[in-house]
Amino acid sequence: MQAVKAGRRVAVVEQEAGVGGMCVHRGTIPSKTLRETALHLSRLRRSAALLEFTIKPDLEVAALTTRLDEVVKAHVAYMGRQLERNGIRVFHGRARFVSDRLVEVQSVDGSVRRIEAAAIFIATGSRPRTPPEIGIDHENILDSDSILSMLYLPASLTVLGGGVIACEYASIFAHLGVAVTMIDRADRPLKFIDPELVAKFVGDFERSGGRFLGERNIASVEWDGVSKVVTRLASGEVVGSDKMLVALGRAASIEGLGAGRGGVEGERARAARSRRALPHRRAAYLCHRRRDRPAVAGGDRDGAGGGARRATRWAWRPAARPR
Ligand SMILES: Cc1cc2nc3c(=O)[nH]c(=O)nc-3n(C[C@H](O)[C@H](O)[C@H](O)COP(=O)(O)OP(=O)(O)OC[C@H]3O[C@@H](n4cnc5c(N)ncnc54)[C@H](O)[C@@H]3O)c2cc1C
Repeated sequence: MQAVKAGRRVAVVEQEAGVGGMCVHRGTIPSKTLRETALHLSRLRRSAALLEFTIKPDLEVAALTTRLDEVVKAHVAYMGRQLERNGIRVFHGRARFVSDRLVEVQSVDGSVRRIEAAAIFIATGSRPRTPPEIGIDHENILDSDSILSMLYLPASLTVLGGGVIACEYASIFAHLGVAVTMIDRADRPLKFIDPELVAKFVGDFERSGGRFLGERNIASVEWDGVSKVVTRLASGEVVGSDKMLVALGRAASIEGLGAGRGGVEGERARAARSRRALPHRRAAYLCHRRRDRPAVAGGDRDGAGGGARRATRWAWRPAARPR
């Protein structure tokens, strides 16, 4: 939209059936829909003396997000209309760079189309970071993309990590009556937030039945093959739970993109070079670009909200506009 306003002709390539990305389909909107239900049930539980209220066992997770489909469809339709109104064409398929000005788009029906552009903006988002030693099977051990695909609300949940996504889901499930154990190697969750606010969050989390185990390192995580995920900690403690959420950060989603051919370097090279390569410091951690190439990478690298928006604004500033 910013590029159109800057007088450019724009096309969007999206591999999923609908636009909206992680925010609409698996991140912000789905988690907030479940959060609304959790808050509502938690208020009802507070009136339990009057209402005799309990959550039934084996409650289907889908029953807690009944409005989700409707909300997601409304967002996708709204965004689609916005793109159309601004004359932006959407191509559905998986994009990969052929060269720095040419991308190849492969559709689900196998057809391939090539799109050439003077400037290519990469906003392929992020995916959950999965440590190789933890076998995520998306059934018992889940990540932040698959957590809402659980069929039934578990009686207990272990959450690995103490970041934003870990805390959000830990508190939502605790408010839904699940016995949640959050484990992190730091002494408190949300290290970047004021300690007083974090203490308030942890207090509320514990009052709703959760527990936070800080300064703990994971020795192993295993599904026992019957009913429990068993987490052994370096301290010798063992935590068993019905399900586990692994929320140990997110990584840039650039595999298969051939980003090198577009002049965009991988995570490590970027970490070392981005600050030097970018004229605009504030955007340095969100997007990166080699001075001599037309590709610009932006958007979500690690789950931080608003990345794409800020990076786009930066990318289309006249000084930074690729020639
Ligand atoms: C559980 C959770 C809760 C969150 N809650 C919040 C919140 O409350 N507030 C907030 O501000 N942020 C929140 N976020 C973060 C927010 O979702 C992201 O910051 C935002 O989605 C990033 O947008 P993006 O456009 O950069 O990337 P994405 O939304 O990930 O979009 C990338 C798009 O690129 C497509 N794509 C990837 N590779 C290719 C390819 N090769 N070819 C074609 N298409 C491709 C993907 O299909 C996807 O549609 C949350 C995230 C999660 C996981």
